[in-house]
Amino acid sequence: MKGVDKMLYGGIEAGGTKFVCGIGNEQLQVIERKSFPTTTPEETMKQVFDFFDKYKGNIASIGVGAFGPIDIQIESRTYGYITNTPKLAWQNYHFVGALENALSVPIYWTTDVNAACYGEYMAGYGKGKNSVLYYTVGTGVGGGAVVDGKIVTGFSHPEMGHMLLQRHNEDQFEGICPFHHDCLEGLASGPAIEKRFGRKAQTISFDHPYWAIEADYLAQCVYNTTLLYAPEVIILGGGVMKQLQLLELIRQAFKEKMGSYVDTPTLEEYLLTPMLADDAGLIGCLALAIKKLEQ
Ligand code: ADP
Ligand code: ZN
Repeated sequence: MKGVDKMLYGGIEAGGTKFVCGIGNEQLQVIERKSFPTTTPEETMKQVFDFFDKYKGNIASIGVGAFGPIDIQIESRTYGYITNTPKLAWQNYHFVGALENALSVPIYWTTDVNAACYGEYMAGYGKGKNSVLYYTVGTGVGGGAVVDGKIVTGFSHPEMGHMLLQRHNEDQFEGICPFHHDCLEGLASGPAIEKRFGRKAQTISFDHPYWAIEADYLAQCVYNTTLLYAPEVIILGGGVMKQLQLLELIRQAFKEKMGSYVDTPTLEEYLLTPMLADDAGLIGCLALAIKKLEQ
């Protein structure tokens, strides 16, 4: 049985709000998981190490999807670090180094949204497709792309959540992004909605007129994404997308913006919320752990 036991993989969805650790098998079935809040590296990583401790010796590799920005350039001196995050305790934290020291297994290291994108590509709405775009609209907004089985990177990981948008003519809000004000994250993230209304986005009723404005911003994002990548599917996840009316509003707004310029797949197949729901990230991390061993 030893050989079989060995074929376990670890996943760490290292979000800015919470961490989810999981153990899974080659079929990407999650065998055990644990979630805890993101506090300091000392506290949070201790919980990570404790979680994996009992599987030590049986884990072949671990995939990590981390909040960023992070350094993913293998040749870089700071590869494996979280870099200049606003979460000060995590600034310049050598995440991959800490994991390698504690667990001595190969680590696949990427952003949280890339991991979620890969999860949908392997086991969700992207399965069998060549190109998948994934956005998360939550505490921040981030985007990731998988094309021909590869996570798209350049000199670094993409920062799609900070694309600039045209302000909606009924929106006076200045935006919360300290770098750009009215970028996608600045205008449409959960905290941006909360700042507009002085209460959490989940307390805004489904028929509030604001959702048409939110949909307009997300439709601009989808429009830009369509023109840039012509992906086979665009998946929108994250807490804000739990407003179930939003997806249809985005489809309609996208249709109006695009007109007949680009003939996309039908919108019911093209614009979706994640098939894997909140598991896209963790399953993506498990799949990336497996991918690490194939590299
Ligand atoms: P994170 O981005 O921290 O990983 P989430 O994707 O859950 O976590 O995003 C959290 C954000 O989503 C918060 O700003 C929260 O107010 C917002 N949110 C969560 N649930 C809903 C909901 N049902 N409707 C609108 N906004 C929501
Ligand atoms: Zn920005």
